[in-house]
Amino acid sequence: MTNSARQALNHDLSMIVGDGYTLVDAIPDAYTHDETLELDPVEPIAVVFPTSSNQVSELIDYANAQSLPLVPRGSGTGLSGGATPVEDGVVCSFEKMNRILSINTFDQTATVEPGVTLDQLEQALIDTPYFYPVYPGEMSASLGGNVATNAGGMRAMKYGVTRHNVLGLEFITGAGVRSRSGGAYVKTSSGYDLTQLIVGSEGTLALVTQVLLRLSPRAHYRTLVLASFGEFEEVAVAVDSISSRGLLPSILEYIEASGLRAMAEHAGINLGVTAEVSSTAAAYLMVELESMNHDDLEWQTNLLIEVLTGNNSTEQYVLDDTQRRGLISARESAFWTVKKLGANVILDTVVPRSKLAELFKGAAVCARESNALLVGTGHVGDGNVHLSLFQPDPIECHATANAIIELAQELGGAVSGEHGIGLAKRGYLLEHEDPARLSLMRSIKSIFDPLNVLNPGKLL
Ligand SMILES: Cc1cc2nc3c(=O)[nH]c(=O)nc-3n(C[C@H](O)[C@H](O)[C@H](O)COP(=O)(O)OP(=O)(O)OC[C@H]3O[C@@H](n4cnc5c(N)ncnc54)[C@H](O)[C@@H]3O)c2cc1C
Repeated sequence: MTNSARQALNHDLSMIVGDGYTLVDAIPDAYTHDETLELDPVEPIAVVFPTSSNQVSELIDYANAQSLPLVPRGSGTGLSGGATPVEDGVVCSFEKMNRILSINTFDQTATVEPGVTLDQLEQALIDTPYFYPVYPGEMSASLGGNVATNAGGMRAMKYGVTRHNVLGLEFITGAGVRSRSGGAYVKTSSGYDLTQLIVGSEGTLALVTQVLLRLSPRAHYRTLVLASFGEFEEVAVAVDSISSRGLLPSILEYIEASGLRAMAEHAGINLGVTAEVSSTAAAYLMVELESMNHDDLEWQTNLLIEVLTGNNSTEQYVLDDTQRRGLISARESAFWTVKKLGANVILDTVVPRSKLAELFKGAAVCARESNALLVGTGHVGDGNVHLSLFQPDPIECHATANAIIELAQELGGAVSGEHGIGLAKRGYLLEHEDPARLSLMRSIKSIFDPLNVLNPGKLL
């Protein structure tokens, strides 16, 4: 782009968002990528920071008039390249639309602008009886990004994922139609559910300018149990027993033995796991229980231990508060640990819970066949595992990832359980998704964004 064209663009964008809310020269590195391991950074021609829905609306009109790609961005913590810029496009950063507009404890709702982070919302709710339960680990992520990726995280088994906790939206489609969907109620039977269509659409249909969230009561007591198992398959069976005995953990995570060692070391925490247990464990379950009532929590904990021992768990550790916080924080940071260790790709495939054991076994075979190292953690309570692949050869790495995704599909699963498709997994989606569903998705895209200005090249 010539210097004068860049200055003209800066002028036009500034007319919409005001001086000081655009970047056209020396774009900081942070805006050239998200956190996806396998993608290269891309420098956009500009970054723009709207502060109101009206400005977003004008930006979309301008993008249509100029055939200018607009790439929405929240906090850039995504793991699929959804916020990766396109070379001839403008990044629309929502970081300055970061006001919490209302908290209504009667309706159990919060209304936020899309740039509000999970951390910011948690702080605002801390003195109320409620919290926002979706917990994708990275608390700097924005609610707009969570909506666009349908973020999941550690508490999904009990509280559901983003789509179960978003009651309504304000959004502006790629065609420039501004609308509101849903409302402060948990049921509606009034036509197509546009809220649910926009959730998970990765910024390809509309830009989200307000989010109406559903809050949940905050439990007073919680405990975390770490249980070791000699075989991966036993973990999957134990998950089924935990559920069928009526326990509904707030966190139910699986961590491969080597993964737990690395995470504990990285976080500098002592979980009290003995050398003997550590040397025989293949994997661990991390189970958090919570309650409003101390005696009830004790009852749940005893039942959990009974279920775990009855399912071949070799040892169970009821962690103290420091260990509990330390392990949850280490699990939150698992991505940074595997990144530091040199992981090349992280998959987040999902399968029915009953197929987890087959996925574990089959994925290990795929990795062995291509000399890749595979380390797993994940939200086993909802059949969603994170598989870190260590295979520096990009062709081998892609082939292994593809084989694992194919296996997940054969087991009745899906390409991505929560990180989204973005740029990184688009090839896998196009290869494995049902062509009829892809065709319907393309038709919907053409209605919402006929000139393909919103996040082109992502998802489809
Ligand atoms: C350490 C770590 C742990 C993580 N753990 C989890 C986890 O357990 N579960 C999980 O689900 N994710 C996890 N993630 C991924 C990430 O946090 C989520 O995908 C999150 O939802 C991204 O939010 P963001 O604000 O960073 O979005 P970005 O990365 O900025 O964008 C994500 C997508 O949303 C679109 N978008 C952003 N804002 C808007 C808007 N206002 N309107 C329309 N589209 C928009 C972007 O175009 C992009 O497609 C983790 C990430 C890290 C780094």
